[in-house]
Amino acid sequence: MKALRLICPIMVVAAILIASPALHGQSPPSVSYFIALAQPDQHLVEVHLSLLQGPAQRELQLPVWNALYQVRDFSQYINWIHALDGSGKPLSLRELGKGRWQLEGAQDGATIEYQIYVDSPGPFGAQLNSHHAFLNLAQILIYAVDARNTPIRLHFTHVPREWQIATPLAPADGGGFSADNYDRLVDSPVEIGTFRESDFDESGARFRVIIDADPADYDSSQIVADLHKIAASAIWWMNDLPFDSYMFIYHFPHGPAGGGMEHAYSTAIELNADSIKQSLYPLTAVTAHEFFHLWNVKRIRPQTLEPVDYTKENLTRALWFSEGVTSTAEDFIQLRAGLIDEKQFLMNLGEQIGELERRPAHLTQSAEQSSLDAWLEGYTYYRRPERSVSYYNKGELFGLMLDLTLREQSHDRASLRELLQWMNANYARKGRYFDDSNGVREAAEAVSHADLSAFFAKYVAGTDELPWNDFLRTVGLQVDVQTTTMPDPGFLASRSFDGPMSVVAVSPGGEAEQAGLREGDTITELQGKSVGQESRQDLSRLKPGDTITAKVRSHRSGERELKWKVAGRPETAYEVKDLDHITPDQRARRAAWLKGEAQTGVGANSQQRPAGNTGGWSQ
Ligand SMILES: [Zn+2]
Repeated sequence: MKALRLICPIMVVAAILIASPALHGQSPPSVSYFIALAQPDQHLVEVHLSLLQGPAQRELQLPVWNALYQVRDFSQYINWIHALDGSGKPLSLRELGKGRWQLEGAQDGATIEYQIYVDSPGPFGAQLNSHHAFLNLAQILIYAVDARNTPIRLHFTHVPREWQIATPLAPADGGGFSADNYDRLVDSPVEIGTFRESDFDESGARFRVIIDADPADYDSSQIVADLHKIAASAIWWMNDLPFDSYMFIYHFPHGPAGGGMEHAYSTAIELNADSIKQSLYPLTAVTAHEFFHLWNVKRIRPQTLEPVDYTKENLTRALWFSEGVTSTAEDFIQLRAGLIDEKQFLMNLGEQIGELERRPAHLTQSAEQSSLDAWLEGYTYYRRPERSVSYYNKGELFGLMLDLTLREQSHDRASLRELLQWMNANYARKGRYFDDSNGVREAAEAVSHADLSAFFAKYVAGTDELPWNDFLRTVGLQVDVQTTTMPDPGFLASRSFDGPMSVVAVSPGGEAEQAGLREGDTITELQGKSVGQESRQDLSRLKPGDTITAKVRSHRSGERELKWKVAGRPETAYEVKDLDHITPDQRARRAAWLKGEAQTGVGANSQQRPAGNTGGWSQ
């Protein structure tokens, strides 16, 4: 529900004049932002925020977090800030805390002016340089706490002549862009530069594909063809299309790359140019994941993430579902789209099982606890295998096992797909948020007509071992556990999002330690390439006896180049394979499972067109 503020007509006119001189016609009173791309070489942006008249005393806030579940205190980048009234007279602005100010004398409106440094690259950041601007607006735009729900006009100035602007925001009459409120504004990334655009239509919606990269590094027709398959397959999976237009924004840098960030009407994805030349799989995988988020997390949304608290962490127990089960859907969507096959699907399942089983913390940290602790992921110690499990990893596996359980309990009438569709119909489309794990259980029980409380208590709230074979038997599969000799680089490292690789442990007496690698070191280059998303894969391809070359730095020892040999160590490998004797029933179930269809489906086999655009939906 939105609170309406009563304003007398004369004051509205004055407010519009203060808020946005370029406005004409009968647009609603709105807060205006003017973002000047004043000094690209210095990464400096100047922002003018024009507030409407209202209370004399206001609180202003720059979010402390956005996109990543990490507090990043964006106010660290504000070089200077001041406030003026309509006649240009300075107003008092007092700092109340990191990123929070108290403004006085703003009864007739006010303009807040500030300069902010923006040079964090990647889909979770904001960056202005001589090549382009890519902006997550929550990182740079202060809002007045009392005006968070007021409509907004956004203008860019000092845009270099040859640059264009791409954003899912609606263009406004009279120039610039508009948003219904601050939350919607900052859920809309902006790319400004000399990108290339390739669009396509699917199921009646427009898909805009914005690529800012060296054209020699990618084949846009192949990318568009794959995106088309992903969009069609996901819309089929959800039997829903809650938008008219959706935007994909891609960057393919040659250095480190950050992954993807979801938004309600768009996604921003960054991948290393060399990795996508070898195969488009990293691109289709992250794209299927981020695209599915337009439902799961953006619309099918846990209550604990609403309203977004820009002043501190939003603690939630639901990331195992919002992230992990999004990865489960990503697998099924890619399978349905023909981008991966059964063999790759089962290989990924085996790898995911191995990743969970090899972390001792799977016996001490539940999927819910891992979700709550997401805010600690920036810390190296937290990422150690004995400290934490990943809610992506455990959530994805739980999603797969939940799918098999729903099929069994419902006698093949319901699956994970019906569960997501039920949550879409009963939460998202009704404007409700779900009650974290209880909300998921409620949906699972509604579609399967079974009591799943023990199942959720053991594997979501608890740390019971998942009995893989009990679930997999229903589709004629089993987990084969073998000890093999695996390459051992002599250290354990982890990356936090788009950050460098930190060494979290070094094997005592091993080759890496003898070469001088220490816990706490940062690895910036591996095998002559800057460390990025694909480094883990590069490491996994090494064999015992191969040589590792790494550029390493630390506070204590500075930067140095190290070389050592890969050793071998026994490791348990998990492979998902056929049972020795598969019954026709198990075979039929497997076929339906891999297609994402319930055999005698409740809604799965229906041929309805996706439901029309919601128009009125808002979060
Ligand atoms: Zn995600």
